[in-house]
Amino acid sequence: MIHIDSYNFSGKRALVRVDFNVPLDKKTMEVSDDSRIRAAIPTLQKIIKDGGSVVLMSHLGRPLKKLKEDGTVDHEKYSLKHTVKTISGLLGKEIKFVNDCISDEAFRVSSSLKAGEILLLENLRFYKEEEKGKEQFAEKLSKHGDVYVNDAFGTAHRAHASTAVIAKFFPGAKMFGYVMAGEIKNAERIMNNAEKPFTAIMGGAKVSDKILIIEQLMKKTDHIIIGGGMAYTFFKAMGGEIGSSLCEEDKLDVAKSIIEKAKQAGVQLHLPADSVIGDRFDKDAATEIVKSDAIKDGWMALDIGPEACNEYAEVIKQSKTILWNGPMGVFEFPKFAGGTLGIAQAIADATKKGAFSLIGGGDSAAAVNQFKMADKFSYVSTGGGALLEYFEGKELPGIKMMRE
Ligand code: AMP
Repeated sequence: MIHIDSYNFSGKRALVRVDFNVPLDKKTMEVSDDSRIRAAIPTLQKIIKDGGSVVLMSHLGRPLKKLKEDGTVDHEKYSLKHTVKTISGLLGKEIKFVNDCISDEAFRVSSSLKAGEILLLENLRFYKEEEKGKEQFAEKLSKHGDVYVNDAFGTAHRAHASTAVIAKFFPGAKMFGYVMAGEIKNAERIMNNAEKPFTAIMGGAKVSDKILIIEQLMKKTDHIIIGGGMAYTFFKAMGGEIGSSLCEEDKLDVAKSIIEKAKQAGVQLHLPADSVIGDRFDKDAATEIVKSDAIKDGWMALDIGPEACNEYAEVIKQSKTILWNGPMGVFEFPKFAGGTLGIAQAIADATKKGAFSLIGGGDSAAAVNQFKMADKFSYVSTGGGALLEYFEGKELPGIKMMRE
């Protein structure tokens, strides 16, 4: 595979798969968080600077799964036209848009692009062939470019037409864009080259989402720190009182076996000693700080407590490699954001002292953006599910088919 830096796009039309699956404001339909678009700009700038043209393709949401009440596809809601203003604002130039992916009109516009011009195709997922990974659809799409650039890490775990299947139609003319290359480099550093002590911090709502990744990380880490809603399944499994905290009753055995496996592997598994509890799931809930295994009936743990936060910060500060996936509590409510913020600060401090830190896999990245701290870590990943699957040890189709 070609490296983007060693390729000259002069006179070439680059078909670039980006991840512009961005949130839109419900009322104005404007892009409400442009991080994914922002991330792709260096790749697009490189192509234009070289004297190439760009055909952009992406998905937005799941239009064929979320139909309108009358059973039809909501073309308006899921149109990528809503992203045009943001893309052209960030690039500082006009971009073209066509309301389809493979119509005659789409090919007419893409084949007449001049050097420096950019065309955005409509949402790929208006076609069922995209998610099904249909070869014919991939082949049609491939006619939009002389060279294929895959820069959509967020969908690298899917064997879709535009993310994986299409690669075979560009033998000798395919490469990763800067987003992909950066994501892979940083994830590989954690997976294959982590300097010790290595600490993984796992949070978020459900333990069931994180079982595979915890089991994989046990082979590599010195410490696994657990926070968020998933911690209380562990306390319940150990016979604790957890009130109405989140708990997956069918995962109690799994939680027990994770504790056992960690012991056998010589990994220190940390659970939060104390928690901030609320009398209801609400931003204005009454709060108390209690031991995490002694939560009264009717109350629920919504954040790790100060003792847990201090203990975790000590471990983090002594680590040389840190992977953080998932918030420590309901950080969307200020009363329950303290644990997540404390952990973010400890990781930022460790990073400043030379540790390598990677934040990613969904909501922890959202949290550090909310705290305006994204620049305090070695790397903040844009990929949620893709990053998780990578650390679960799975081969991602979007990477594999490019390397074949
Ligand atoms: P995940 O997508 O699994 O990473 O979960 C992230 C979500 O979990 C966030 O929206 C948090 O608000 C939520 N969360 C974290 N801790 C808790 C908790 N103790 N109770 C309920 N929800 C939580």
